[in-house]
Amino acid sequence: MSKFDFSPMPDANGYFGEYGGQLIPPELKTVMDEINTAYEEIRQKPEFQQELADLFADYVGRPSPIFYARRLSEQLGGARIFLKREDLNHTGAHKINHCLGEALLAKYMGKTKVIAETGAGQHGVALATACALVGIPCEIHMGQVDIEKEHPNVVKMKILGCTLVPVTRGTATLKDAVDSAFEEYLKDPKNFIYAIGSVVGPHPFPKMVRDFQSIIGTEARQQFQQREGKLPEYVTACVGGGSNAIGMFTAFLDDENVNLVGVEPAGYGLDTDKHSATMSLGKPGEIHGMKCYVLEQEDGTPMPVHSIASGLDYPGVGPQHSYLKDLGRVQYDTATDDECLNAFMTLSRVEGIIPALESSHAVAWAIRTAPTLDKDQCILVNLSGRGDKDADYVAQKLGL
Ligand SMILES: *Cc1c(COP(=O)(O)O)cnc(C)c1O
Repeated sequence: MSKFDFSPMPDANGYFGEYGGQLIPPELKTVMDEINTAYEEIRQKPEFQQELADLFADYVGRPSPIFYARRLSEQLGGARIFLKREDLNHTGAHKINHCLGEALLAKYMGKTKVIAETGAGQHGVALATACALVGIPCEIHMGQVDIEKEHPNVVKMKILGCTLVPVTRGTATLKDAVDSAFEEYLKDPKNFIYAIGSVVGPHPFPKMVRDFQSIIGTEARQQFQQREGKLPEYVTACVGGGSNAIGMFTAFLDDENVNLVGVEPAGYGLDTDKHSATMSLGKPGEIHGMKCYVLEQEDGTPMPVHSIASGLDYPGVGPQHSYLKDLGRVQYDTATDDECLNAFMTLSRVEGIIPALESSHAVAWAIRTAPTLDKDQCILVNLSGRGDKDADYVAQKLGL
């Protein structure tokens, strides 16, 4: 008997404990309820399940392998570190998992346009890819700051045929892109569908995106058990909105002996105002149609957050993470920009794997923690994406 019962989650109204829900105007709630009803029906259909399973295998390249980082582990001299290689997926990150799910859902629902925001551009590229494959027009909103920082992804989105909308308001980053994309969606929510890029937003998105991402943990748990004859003592993943982390954690929630650790960006440090450590320093609040932990300024508006990893600078976080934190089932820790850069370079040079700056936060946690653990213990890191998109930025930053 497990201590927690996570199975019927969220409840019928989209709540994970007190978090989540649909904190949106009534007309939008009607549209979200329609999406939920359609999703619950479509996900049961054998042809939908088969189509998604085939695409995961033949298009994404699943299952992604688990790699034992032998040299890194031996240099650190403590726990053994394993990597779940989501960086090897087509388009280079975990996001393709839920983008294929959302694009297929849009097709089954007969939608005419898919709208989304993107931060690092990873969600944009993954969604533009999925929409090209499925054959649905796609419109992506992106902050101007991120457009300049993530040029390779911007070019890819254009090549893939999506409409790219630059957003210059506010801090011109992820949060502003979400606002802009939502305004466009509200113009015709009957025919458009919003494809949220993480386990955030109003119900049913935190549930849907989690379900599509849970393939990560389902595979990893089985792969690890098969190769090591046990489960890992620690499983870790970086947390922006929380999709790669919840995708990894879901399969392990009932395994009480598996410690789950989400790693947030501490930016310049938790004692500065340049971080994005929502769980560590935020408090329960409201953002983008959901209740969750939020980083707010004194006037109650969302804090302009910072991380060296564009995909992590979001002042909210998934409602299920907020709930798991309060339950104590998942621990949330942080890594600074400097620790992240160090982990990025270390993994590149010791294992020949260039990780995304986002994923480097989880790698940094493993590098910091492994030496404090015994050699017979194991840390499984979700390597959420590859660092090709970050290579120019890091080279410039370090003067390489
Ligand atoms: C977008 C992104 C993240 C952050 O998003 P989550 O929803 O928190 O997973 C992490 N890693 C990579 C590689 C990303 O592209």
